[in-house]
Amino acid sequence: MYKIDLPSDEVPKQWYNINPDLPIELPAPIDGDGGHQVENLPTIFTKAVLEQEMSMERYIKIPKEVREIYQRIGRPTPLFRAKGLEEKLNTPAKIYYKREDSSPAGSHKLNSAIAQAYYAKKEGIKKLTTETGAGQWGSALSLACSMMDIECEVYMVKVSYNQKPFRKTVMELYNGNIYASPSDNTNVGRKVNKESPNHPGSLGIAISEAIEVALADEKTKYSLGSVLNHVMLHQTVIGQELKIQLEIAEEEPDTYVACVGGGSNFAGSMYPIIKDKMDGKTDANLIAVEPSSCPTLTKGSYEYDFGDSEGFTPLLKMFTLGHDFIAPSVHAGGLRYHGMSPQVSILSKAGVIEPRSVNQQEIFEAAQLFANTESIIPAPESSHALKIGIDEARKAKETGEEKTIVINLSGHGLLDLQGYSDFLSGHLTQ
Ligand SMILES: *Cc1c(COP(=O)(O)O)cnc(C)c1O
Repeated sequence: MYKIDLPSDEVPKQWYNINPDLPIELPAPIDGDGGHQVENLPTIFTKAVLEQEMSMERYIKIPKEVREIYQRIGRPTPLFRAKGLEEKLNTPAKIYYKREDSSPAGSHKLNSAIAQAYYAKKEGIKKLTTETGAGQWGSALSLACSMMDIECEVYMVKVSYNQKPFRKTVMELYNGNIYASPSDNTNVGRKVNKESPNHPGSLGIAISEAIEVALADEKTKYSLGSVLNHVMLHQTVIGQELKIQLEIAEEEPDTYVACVGGGSNFAGSMYPIIKDKMDGKTDANLIAVEPSSCPTLTKGSYEYDFGDSEGFTPLLKMFTLGHDFIAPSVHAGGLRYHGMSPQVSILSKAGVIEPRSVNQQEIFEAAQLFANTESIIPAPESSHALKIGIDEARKAKETGEEKTIVINLSGHGLLDLQGYSDFLSGHLTQ
């Protein structure tokens, strides 16, 4: 079987909330230096997502309307066997990949965007503001807001805005309003631009800008595309589908791989598997892959830090490189965040998952190999997972092990052609 499809009615009816099952209790968000960040949370976020953030209920019902849209955009996504790649690698390992690239917005991000836009609409909110790195989240939220008939205002990290001009076109086509961050719309942006006019921007600054706008108007809320518990929650449709597909394929994989930026596609594809692991039903290795240029889990420290550069968010206990960390301008813009999901951080700290890092040259080599054998041009972010999946398959060849490897293909790279062009012409940095 090369492709394992599920019918629409197999879209999960619940999201899986890992909060009650974490090996260490999640430390609560706290106020930073003399601020009232925790008190401000209800002004920033919708009620529904804040409730989900703290919830200790293991399963949370997916609203009927959200589930229907999941079906309309093509969920469940297929699981593919990477037969071409296996043959090319001449490995005894079996490789599967879950196709979140098949989402109309190009990545898994739509799974949370739809839920967040739905709750905003239900609570009478007129506009959502957000940040975006590579542009995937901005595209997904623009589309979701357009479907719910509310406005969307996106602050896009300036270096990505310049690297990926067509992302702006996609977001505008989906009725989003896009600004390069640091922008002149906000106090935060103006301050940064005054101090350093050529600032490349960062996710931390873009988040501050989007929150500043939301704080100023009660009909405007802010929406985050990763890191927070409710985003991890919404993404668990991926892993629940995956488990059914693996049963159909009669596979019990020993290795699962996903890339990590803020942690959401990793969490979404892995949490249902992690639940099995904690229940003693599998001892699979779960690998989280990040860029060596932004090595949050592998080199960061586990401590309380702000989620944004300005300190509008509460302090979150997580692996972090520091909220003023400015990552180098690598093409995997979605993986350039200074922090990490507090839940994923705990899982890494407790040794339930294994973090690894890879460099930019390696991921583009893996991406090209994948494109030539499996026909899909993967997102540079997803290619971090592909690189490690391929490494594991090569190791299996050396040892003769019949491994089964599952990779979460978080998105396609058709709007990342500048990165591919730099790779082909030998102009990649790092
Ligand atoms: C945003 C993005 C990521 C990184 O974000 P996570 O929350 O860690 O999943 C990875 N892959 C793609 C394609 C993305 O768009």
